Amino acid sequence: MERLKAKIRDIPDFPKPGIVFKDITPLLADGPSFRTLTDALAARFASRKVDLVVGIEARGFVIGSAVGYVLGAGIVLIRKKGKLPYKTHKAIYQLEYGTDTLEIHEDAIKPGQRVIIVDDLLATGGTVSAAIDLVNKLGGTVVGIGFLVELTFLKGREKLREQEIFSLVQF
Ligand code: AMP
Repeated sequence: MERLKAKIRDIPDFPKPGIVFKDITPLLADGPSFRTLTDALAARFASRKVDLVVGIEARGFVIGSAVGYVLGAGIVLIRKKGKLPYKTHKAIYQLEYGTDTLEIHEDAIKPGQRVIIVDDLLATGGTVSAAIDLVNKLGGTVVGIGFLVELTFLKGREKLREQEIFSLVQF
């Protein structure tokens, strides 16, 4: 995990002054690190009988699709407003730096399907809370949530008390 941590780069004042952006692209570009991250997340949820991995745009797609492949699970996309072509459900959420809207196709999850949600980073927890709301609206059951990075000082985990949260690297 220290090797993974060393490949995450700090970008000060991006996208706004005062935010230290955790840039995971050097980690994704390193084959052994990407495999370690994928295998570790997949192993954590392997026993949960996962039907679907929900990835959150855009870095959540990269990690989520690799984890879904390992688990033999399908992939569902949660995207920013206006990107999904079919009928959607929407959730508005608070970011560490602003507000935004997430959408999911209204038929993306069948009632009772077992879902894990994957994103690159847990900050305040607003994004993943909106994703949980969307999964619940469609009748899916969230059986776990996985992140590469957790910014523990923002206490996002406290918003998500009901959920099983797993992060590989903490700052
Ligand atoms: P939050 O809703 O506050 O938990 O923010 C999580 C989402 O915003 C994730 O999709 C992250 O990719 C992105 N994000 C928030 N803060 C940062 C940060 N400091 N560095 C990189 N990504 C971030």
